[in-house]
Parts: sequence; structure tokens; C-alpha cells
Amino acid sequence: MQANIVLLPGDGIGPEVTAEAARILTAVADLGGHEFQLDSHPMGGNAIDDFQNPLPPTTLASCKEADAVLLGAVGGPKWSDPTAELRPEQGLLDLRAELGLFANLRPVPVFESLAPFAPLKPELLRGVDLLFVRELTGGIYFGPRHEQGDGDVAYDTLVYSTAEVERVARVALRAARGRSRKVASIDKANVLASMRLWRRSVTEVAGAYPDVEVTHHLVDAFAMQLMRSPADYDVILAGNMFGDILSDEAAILAGSLGMLPSASLGSGKQGLYEPVHGSAPDIAGRGIANPIGAILSAAMLLRHSLELDAEASNVETAVAAVLDDGLRTADLVSEGGQAVSTDEMGRAVEAKL
Ligand code: NAD
Repeated sequence: MQANIVLLPGDGIGPEVTAEAARILTAVADLGGHEFQLDSHPMGGNAIDDFQNPLPPTTLASCKEADAVLLGAVGGPKWSDPTAELRPEQGLLDLRAELGLFANLRPVPVFESLAPFAPLKPELLRGVDLLFVRELTGGIYFGPRHEQGDGDVAYDTLVYSTAEVERVARVALRAARGRSRKVASIDKANVLASMRLWRRSVTEVAGAYPDVEVTHHLVDAFAMQLMRSPADYDVILAGNMFGDILSDEAAILAGSLGMLPSASLGSGKQGLYEPVHGSAPDIAGRGIANPIGAILSAAMLLRHSLELDAEASNVETAVAAVLDDGLRTADLVSEGGQAVSTDEMGRAVEAKL
């Protein structure tokens, strides 16, 4: 197949990990006889420096035309003044809005060989394979009223419409069909009217997916259950803020932030794929960043935007095999252990493929 993929390497370790994800996409194309056009564009802090715009119009236009977009990470101390007029993360928010991406998929893969790096007992991690589906463009972060006047009162409003809940619930239910057919929907329906609407809307949509078991959980009790028995869950569906918090909580199960991929999807096949981590300025430029989050993001791109399921699974299997062989970047090495570089890890995954 032919595909047009835009790369947004970004700042800090972004270019380092994106190069390895691009290496894997190129290998997948060569092996399968596909033609992937990979074009890099400026975005984030580097685009502020060069174009006075974190999302230059030419970058946005290329993303809109692409089949998929793969991002490294944006930001860093140089651009972190909160009062600055131009901020790298504004580019990312604008890009999500422009591409109409309303569902954020964050898998938390737990590779058995990495269990010692997670703070939970290894037996609790056996068989854990979570997929968070977080609503991305609604809820309290985007409510119509955000106010802090001069007084002692401030407001943020939590609003959800039936349509907003239903479309993200469908993403979770469809994803569950390709997995273990279980969705845990998270809310706070005992206290919040918006969350009663959430539960009602999820229940209504679930009626069309009788083969998927949907359970409802209050967010506070669920936060505890998630650490007590993570293997009990599969797809976890949540609103913007609860999904944000719970997916970060669950990230520790994977052993390192550098391991985690993500996808932001809309109503079509196009998506934005990026590792969960930031630009890691503390290790940037040293060639020691873990590229696996970026490589697994490329696997999500193959699956969701290009519908190359077998190729996506092959990349995931290659990553697992490399970890089983004992290869570790610095973030996964205990004191005194031997670490490989970003580029050695990428080459090892390529060789396994
Ligand atoms: P961070 O994720 O960049 O780093 C947190 C810690 O994890 C650091 O110690 C870092 O070295 C380590 N780490 C992260 N990714 C790693 C990898 N692939 N391999 C090895 N170690 C890794 O978070 P932060 O320090 O809070 O933020 C740094 C900058 O990144 C900030 O400017 C922030 O705004 C930005 N940020 C961007 C995104 C994004 O682009 N989507 C997301 C989060 C943070």
C-alpha cells in the first residue's frame, strides 16, 4: 500500500526517538512491499524559534493531507515561561483540534521481563494489558466557564453532551472487540450530573455491542482497584480528566515512561501518534533515550490509520523479543547494569523484524 506519513520530531529527545520509529516504519515498508512517504516538518519549540509559530501553516497543511502523523515530543526549558505569548504545547492542542481528534488511546503494555521495574509485586502484573480510551476534547478542561476573578472564588465547568460521550464510547467498544471484549467505564455518577449522563450514554451505546461486557465504576474506588488487581481490566473508558489521571497512574505498571505509546483518533482513519513521554531535556542529545514508546506508537499507526494489523503485531512482537533478550536502555537498567543507546535499541528491533 501507499501511505503519506508526516513526522513531527519536535524538541529534546523527540528527534532521537522519532528517528528510530521512522527506521521501523521504513523496515515494515521494505518487508511488506509498501510505499511509505515519510516527511518531517517543524513543530513545537523549534518552530517558535524558526517561524515564530509552534504550528506553522505549512506543517498544519501537510498534517491535514497525511494519512497519519507521528510526533516525538515538544517543549523544553527554553520555551517554558508560562507568560510567554507562544508556547510549544499550544501547537499540539491546535493540531488535535484542527484534525478533530476526540479519542486518546493509551495502551499500557506490561512486558514480563520488565516486571521488576514496576513498584508493584510481580505477581500482580502477570497478564496485565490495559488500553485506556480517554475523551480528549470535552469535559472540565474545555468547559465554557474558566474564571478566576480578583476574589476568593474560581470556576471550571464540567460539561458533556450525549453525542460527545457516545462517539468516544464507540471507540472503546470497537477496540474491545479486538481484545477481550470487556470495557470498564469510569465516572462519578453518584455525585455529578454530567457523569450520570456519561453512564446513561455509555449504557445506551453499549446496547449495540451485546458481545462486549460493560461495567461501570466510580473513579475513586477504581483508582484503588487498578493498583490492587490491574489484570482484572482490559479497555478502560473515561472522560478527559479522569482518563488523564488514571492513565498516568497506570503508566507506572510499564516500568518506564519511555515505554508508553499513544494514539489520538477522530471519526476517520487519520490519527496522531506519539509516545506518552515529554521532551526529557535532562537526557536530550546524549543518545540514551528509550525509543520503545515511539516505536510502539508507530505500531499503533500501522494498525489504526493504515489497517496493517499483521505488521503492527510484528513490531510489537519484535519489541517484546528484544526485551526478552535482555536489551535495555538506561531508564530500564538497574545500577551497574549495561545499557544500550537509543539507536542500538532501534536497530535491534529492526533486526528482529
Ligand atoms: P518528560 O516525560 O519529558 O520526562 C520525565 C522524566 O522521564 C525525565 O527524567 C526524563 O529523562 C524521563 N524520560 C522521559 N522519556 C524518556 C525516554 N523516552 N527514555 C528515557 N527516559 C525518559 O516530562 P517533563 O520533564 O515533565 O517535561 C519535559 C518537557 O516535555 C516539558 O517542556 C513538557 O512541557 C514537555 N512535555 C511534552 C509532552 C508532549 O510533547 N506530548 C508531554 C509531556 C511533557
